[in-house]
Amino acid sequence: METQQERNRRLKQEAIQRQSREIADYVRNQQNQPRQYFDSPPSSPPEVTCPKCQSNQISAGTKGFSVGKAAAGGLLLGGVGLLGGFLGSNKHVRTCVRCGYRW
Ligand SMILES: [Zn+2]
Repeated sequence: METQQERNRRLKQEAIQRQSREIADYVRNQQNQPRQYFDSPPSSPPEVTCPKCQSNQISAGTKGFSVGKAAAGGLLLGGVGLLGGFLGSNKHVRTCVRCGYRW
């Protein structure tokens, strides 16, 4: 028969174990999710050609990346926050230098 004190200690340990498991899961998720943004480089490969005039003179850039947002996020959340700045930037904008077509 366990005493009240033993029971309290056991419940506390179980709570700590459950909590650290949740934190481990959270950290694992945070580590897994942003990885896809590293897999796709922000700049377009040079072999991109205009779908309209087939010119290879393409000005490529990203739309939506906020340096301020990334800096603020980086200060608050560390590396994860820094990645937050890239969240809106996965939309690449290419501009054809020859005909001005954007896609
Ligand atoms: Zn073009």
